[in-house]
Amino acid sequence: MSKPYEVNQNGELTIGGVTATELASQYQTPLYVYDVNHMRQQMRAFKAVFMKRKLDYAVSYASKAFATVAMYEVAAQEDVHLDVVSGGEIQTALAANYPMNHVSFNGNNKSVAELEMAVDSGLGTIILDNFYELDILHDVLSERDKKQDVLLRITPGVEAHTHDYISTGQTDSKFGFDVASGQAYTALQKAIADPYINVLGVSAHIGSQIFDVTGFQMAAAKLVDLVHEWGFDPQVINTGGGFGIRYTEDDKPLPATEFVEAIIDTITEKTTSYGMSMPAIWIEPGRAIVGPAGYNLYTIGAKKDVPGIRTYLSVDGGMGDNIRPALYEAKYEAVLANNPQAPTEQVVRVAGKYCESGDVLVWQQELPKTKPGDVLAVLATGAYGYSMASNYNRNPRPAVVFVEDSHSQLVVERETYTDMIRLDKHYQ
Ligand SMILES: *Cc1c(COP(=O)(O)O)cnc(C)c1O
Repeated sequence: MSKPYEVNQNGELTIGGVTATELASQYQTPLYVYDVNHMRQQMRAFKAVFMKRKLDYAVSYASKAFATVAMYEVAAQEDVHLDVVSGGEIQTALAANYPMNHVSFNGNNKSVAELEMAVDSGLGTIILDNFYELDILHDVLSERDKKQDVLLRITPGVEAHTHDYISTGQTDSKFGFDVASGQAYTALQKAIADPYINVLGVSAHIGSQIFDVTGFQMAAAKLVDLVHEWGFDPQVINTGGGFGIRYTEDDKPLPATEFVEAIIDTITEKTTSYGMSMPAIWIEPGRAIVGPAGYNLYTIGAKKDVPGIRTYLSVDGGMGDNIRPALYEAKYEAVLANNPQAPTEQVVRVAGKYCESGDVLVWQQELPKTKPGDVLAVLATGAYGYSMASNYNRNPRPAVVFVEDSHSQLVVERETYTDMIRLDKHYQ
């Protein structure tokens, strides 16, 4: 199988045409690097499926996966919509001059202040999650005498997991209006009756890092069944995100576009059979757009052999820049940047520098011979890495660099030690 990375004539890892070791020495480590063209290609691939079929659609980037001004600018250039989940992400979209009418706002506990910010910024669609939000949004809108497009987030009773899916009548989830108990239908009636609210349609999101189309087909079918049962003709059906990506060679994802084909087919068949008009289909990929395009670069430091047990190879970052292995045992693959294809000479656990035993970046990795100062690249780190970064142990968060057409550009500065105490006050 082809390697999930590129090398130059000298066999060195390159990202967007620039040698990884050069990026490490120019910008220092730890460092987040994104291959921008890779992200563009993925966004275009999603859009192409809909355009080929001449459908109304929105590919809405679930920006919690990686939310920065530069990323929102790339999304805008590609005419990809944006899904946000907080006032901070709305502020980021405003700072990026992102067209706010193409933004949707998800989340299960939007505050009054956040809803005011959304409405005042001209944000396109609010995805309502519960009755409380319906009430406070009504108040925000009536104060302003404004009308707002919304989707209702439904808990469709389909839960997809990475390698399987389960269908439950009722889903134990904090997200969305429950169907079985009738809450979803009540919410729809209430929202339709509200003069300040325009219900575009329904929305669901069934999980993340999903490898099988079945869960998406079930959820899409369920949404159409529901709106038909309710006698409601939606303009939009949003089936969410969650398309799985390759982190290690054990992951064998479908091309993301195949998920979309399956969703479109299901919605087409169902609406046709009910004699309904075809709605616009919205999807919300996060990980699939940014994950594979991201690389975390580290400098190798200490090495510890525990005889008969394992070898720990420590790097200058860790759970503060990528918490996913510590948080849910996520698996990654790492390569030696200056010679990723050199023969294996050791099997190591790549550990971070944070004061936690669980601070691991790669649980088990075959590597060539390494020495302190070598650059290690962890692959497919573009989603939920920087966006979940912390200052644990008062380590500054790394810089973010975008690379495209052999040109690199700093898009988020590295934090400094001064930043670490910026908000602190003396106690006297
Ligand atoms: C997290 C999330 C997504 C994106 O999930 P990915 O696995 O990154 O594709 C999409 N929609 C909603 C509502 C989400 O919460």
